[in-house]
Amino acid sequence: MYDVNLSGIRTIADVDVTNAVVLVRADLNVPMEAGQVTDTTRLDRFAPTLQDLAARRAKVVVLSHFGRPEGSVVPAMSLRAVAGPLGQSVGREVDFGETDWDDVARLQHEIAGMAPGDILLAENTRFHPGETDNAPDLARRMAGLGTIFVNDAFSAAHRAHASTVGIADYLPAYAGPSLAAEIDAIRSALDAPKRPVGAVVGGAKVSSKLPVLVNLVERLDALIIGGGMANTFLHALGHNVGKSLCEPEFADTARDILAKAKEAGCAVHLPVDAGVAPQFEAGAPVEYVGIDDVPGDQMILDVGPQTRAQLDTVVAGLETLLWNGPLGAFEIAPFDVGTNALAKSAGAQTAAGRLRTVAGGGDTVAALNHAGAASQFSYISTAGGAFLEWLEGRHLPGILALTR
Ligand code: ADP
Ligand code: MG
Repeated sequence: MYDVNLSGIRTIADVDVTNAVVLVRADLNVPMEAGQVTDTTRLDRFAPTLQDLAARRAKVVVLSHFGRPEGSVVPAMSLRAVAGPLGQSVGREVDFGETDWDDVARLQHEIAGMAPGDILLAENTRFHPGETDNAPDLARRMAGLGTIFVNDAFSAAHRAHASTVGIADYLPAYAGPSLAAEIDAIRSALDAPKRPVGAVVGGAKVSSKLPVLVNLVERLDALIIGGGMANTFLHALGHNVGKSLCEPEFADTARDILAKAKEAGCAVHLPVDAGVAPQFEAGAPVEYVGIDDVPGDQMILDVGPQTRAQLDTVVAGLETLLWNGPLGAFEIAPFDVGTNALAKSAGAQTAAGRLRTVAGGGDTVAALNHAGAASQFSYISTAGGAFLEWLEGRHLPGILALTR
């Protein structure tokens, strides 16, 4: 499905990094509550990269974004709080380097004092507006901190930012081991998927995910739309979705997608019934209604039993299933019922060797874990947006930058 010549990508595996200052782009965008990291999955997955580089006597400087500070210094989004937990995952100390992205002299001074095997975490790259603008002057300042650039953040590869793309203009650029492993796994699952191939697209990031579907339908035999995403389609088709999460300004895009799917021979499955409640809260009274009977003062928070049965049949007819985005607000029971049911049946069919299942997305991974089905899936990526754009066949700028 992906036609970039990926053989042009060099990995850091065979490069001599002894004494080199290696700038590693990671995705340390971990869940945090009250200044405490609450889930270390991303740190644990990245730790082997740091262990390897440190063991090979590199001086390692880690770059990452965190949250959306929109180009200014937001103390609550400082990466300082992540240095300790990252060090714990790695099993050696990770220093935090105070960083002013306008003037990196102080950081440079600290780097000059590093010994081989030391690891330093720089401040949130998004504290400077040049990061998301991919500003050449910021990219050049970042590059000036080291001698080698390594991108190990597949989940940030769909964004052309200074620390993912611009920086590669100024330094030899390599793929890190997690990024390389992720590409390998996704390619082996998807380069020549067994047909029929279907996708579940749900979740809440409607405005960023919807445009991706326009091209994705050309690659699919079936598209199952659920979650908040489905509400925008239902609204576009004239159904009343009450107080549901919905982005009416995308109604035209939704209708375009349906038309394109029809043309491409991709069957689109929207919910025919729904679990509704007055609000998204634990203990809210849930009611299952037909899709034309959603009360005006309620919101759709899950698919209903008829939809569950229908989706089971759809998935039973597939050879490959891709999944990004839960079918409902799975964090609170009973709105997890639809997602659990589909996850379990897809997992069971995968375990029985009848289906190949590839899922991606932070919340999707959490939902599949919650359903107890994650371990049965063929492959799970922690990347959401990058995963979906890859499926769509888009060339991810962060990957392209490694082939130049
Ligand atoms: P991912 O992180 O896997 O890419 P998203 O971030 O797009 O997925 O979406 C996950 C979120 O979508 C979850 O927090 C879930 O509660 C929410 N969600 C799913 N269905 C609905 C719905 N019908 N109404 C409101 N929120 C929903
Ligand atoms: Mg999410």
